Amino acid sequence: MFNKILIANRGEIAVRIIRACREMKIKTVAVYSTADAESLPVQMADEAVCIGPPAPRDSYLNAPNIISAAHITGADAIHPGIGFLSERSNFAEAVEACGITFIGPSGASMDKMGDKSIARETMQRAGVPVVPGGTFTTAQEALELAKKIGFPLLVKASFGGGGRGIRSVQNEEELPRAIEIASNEAASAFGSGDVYLEKFIEEPRHIEVQVIGDKHGHAVHLGERDCSIQSLRRQKIVEEAPAANLAPALRNRLGDAAVRAAKAVGYSGAGTIECLVDKHGNFYFMEMNKRLQVEHCITEMVTGIDIVKTQILVASGEKLQFSQKEIRLNGHAIEVRINAEDPERNFAPSAGKIEKVILPGGLGVRVDTHIYSGYEVPPYYDSLLAKVIVWGKDRDDAIARAQRCLMEMEVVGVKTNIAFCQKILSNAYFRRGEYTTDFLQRRILSEMSAKDSG
Ligand code: ADP
Ligand code: ADP
Ligand code: MG
Repeated sequence: MFNKILIANRGEIAVRIIRACREMKIKTVAVYSTADAESLPVQMADEAVCIGPPAPRDSYLNAPNIISAAHITGADAIHPGIGFLSERSNFAEAVEACGITFIGPSGASMDKMGDKSIARETMQRAGVPVVPGGTFTTAQEALELAKKIGFPLLVKASFGGGGRGIRSVQNEEELPRAIEIASNEAASAFGSGDVYLEKFIEEPRHIEVQVIGDKHGHAVHLGERDCSIQSLRRQKIVEEAPAANLAPALRNRLGDAAVRAAKAVGYSGAGTIECLVDKHGNFYFMEMNKRLQVEHCITEMVTGIDIVKTQILVASGEKLQFSQKEIRLNGHAIEVRINAEDPERNFAPSAGKIEKVILPGGLGVRVDTHIYSGYEVPPYYDSLLAKVIVWGKDRDDAIARAQRCLMEMEVVGVKTNIAFCQKILSNAYFRRGEYTTDFLQRRILSEMSAKDSG
């Protein structure tokens, strides 16, 4: 087992990883940008090393500095967390080449699922259904492909993430311009202007399956999560496990496909197969997230499995300690993402000093956060402040508990989406489990603007 793990990340996920290490008696090294010197993970870790100025490319994406920090502190493994370097196969390979274990899949299996358009091909070969679509090289090819797929369709960045680099196209005329815009957006956000086309699935549910594999060829799934409650920027806001109103046969097919997908690329570590489910109950592979996910906690709540500890165990070479049939789901879990943003001003990020914070607690409640009273939210990174995660014996119980938690929670000093999330939890459609990815637009925002004008 590892002696010391360096966490190449920040915020709540760095805290989450430090907690797992501490329970495993593994020492921790936090790395931080100058903007994060006072952050909670820096205070919690056994050691901390500054790796550069605030801009992510100079600090949390600065691979040479991070690997040097691991050498200086004698860390024998690096946990990349979420985002930043977590899905860069060249980083994983550079780490391993320096004799340090990368906690995640091998560079080679990451590459097979790396570029989203390549991942689609990998999945098709493994017999997993994908959203109709494909790649093109010339404008003429793009047009022919688009006609074959049919409109509306989406132009999507091959290296996209976080809901960015996606553009919808209603007809032939809009296609060239949409490709140009998406490609430029992708080039500046992801360093590659590659895009592909995908059929637009109407009113889909975003349902994803957590998988975990070891280095001995075993892989299992830990059930699904419904992440259809998304912002207009396609970012997840509320997630639940298991998905509501999902036919058992479909659930089994999703689980089987996810394990097949993981095995097809020799996947080790934690990963997520993201799918769209249409109103006829067809499901399509969308992408694989080759890392831990923000919403992994709800799966932990219903399975009792610590996903981060399992990641560390399998990275060290241990076999998975459970088989598929030993995994049992119990009850229902919901996660609400509390962001520093202003719902009144188009969800603009809100940075500044947190004067006061009261976090919810009690039976069945878990709060993963890095904030504290007096903490200054820097303007350079994503706006996630806290994840309120609740467990209930059933879905209604979990919703009631989530509502109670948000009533208890108070953050003074920055704007938050707490009240906005209460609207989601109390919405009649949400409460019945009747929702698709357009929920916010259709059920919440339209209602709010109706009230404004009335
Ligand atoms: P990212 O890498 O940014 O997470 P995804 O491919 O996972 O991008 O898509 C993000 C979200 O965009 C999905 O959860 C879904 O809401 C929407 N979306 C993506 N592809 C489609 C599609 N083909 N049809 C309808 N909605 C889609
Ligand atoms: P859609 O916008 O999907 O067409 P509908 O208004 O037709 O939605 O209703 C879909 C379901 O929601 C039906 O079961 C209907 O009874 C129920 N429903 C309709 N309006 C409301 C409402 N204001 N509050 C709660 N449930 C509603
Ligand atoms: Mg995605």
